[in-house]
Amino acid sequence: MEYTGRRKFLIDATKAAGSAVILASPISNLAAIQPTDTWTVGQIMDLFINDVPGGLIPNTVDVLHAGDRDMQVTGIITTMFATVEVIRKAIDLNANFIIPHEPTYYNHAGKADWVEGLDIYKFKSELLKKHNIAIWRNHDHIHRHFPDGVRSGVISKLGWDKYFDPKNNQVVVIPEIPLEKLIEHIKQKLGITMLRYMGDLAQPCRKILFNPGFNTGSIVIPVIEREKPDVVLGGEFHEWETPEYVRDLQLSGHPISMVIMGHADSEEPGSEYMAQWLKENVKGVNVTHVPAKNPLSFM
Ligand SMILES: [Zn+2]
Repeated sequence: MEYTGRRKFLIDATKAAGSAVILASPISNLAAIQPTDTWTVGQIMDLFINDVPGGLIPNTVDVLHAGDRDMQVTGIITTMFATVEVIRKAIDLNANFIIPHEPTYYNHAGKADWVEGLDIYKFKSELLKKHNIAIWRNHDHIHRHFPDGVRSGVISKLGWDKYFDPKNNQVVVIPEIPLEKLIEHIKQKLGITMLRYMGDLAQPCRKILFNPGFNTGSIVIPVIEREKPDVVLGGEFHEWETPEYVRDLQLSGHPISMVIMGHADSEEPGSEYMAQWLKENVKGVNVTHVPAKNPLSFM
């Protein structure tokens, strides 16, 4: 049973007993039906890490960006980015543990000297400290989970579970659809208002190179070369790498397209996957998924 369920039980029991009885009750009686499950930040981190094949990943970027392992958890937020808005939402919900997929401070490795000198670092870290909030980035481990929590979360959201093989998660082969319809489908399912693409909107698409989030050209381009997909579907790419490779492929006569969803939008369902995992495995704690959303607009 989750905390919300227990609280409802407490409220229902209170109503049933009548307020006079409750007012007369010693506090210890109320405490007896409060949630007994308590979790620390470190216990929750370890529980997830132990569920990942191979366990703890050496040299991982999945470190605490705020708080410490011994903090008692009052509630959990999952999200793509621990933005100032997401932190404020956590404060509103009295949730002191945020699990984002991406960095809190603008670089993959985590803390860096240049980051700690920033005014916004001071602002964010003081806000977190004041409200006693811990942040644990879950990037490497959720990708190493089986199935990859991000890829499988996005595939489910796209309604493509039956076309997806978690053991071969770089590609997905769907029933043939023109590029235009594929783009409409992605926008509608992932709640994206506008996205960027390259290619002929009438091009039939069946085999999709599936790359939510970001990868460098040196990683993605050899996979495209090997898999020969109809379309490369990604979160973001360095514009001077993979998109230029795809452009040259097109110009040399290969029918291939590219669709770029934006980083946050392309991986946000992974944070829903994480929220679901927590609800099933960390009993007694409120878990809320708060989308970070794409901050960029189009005009
Ligand atoms: Zn990712």
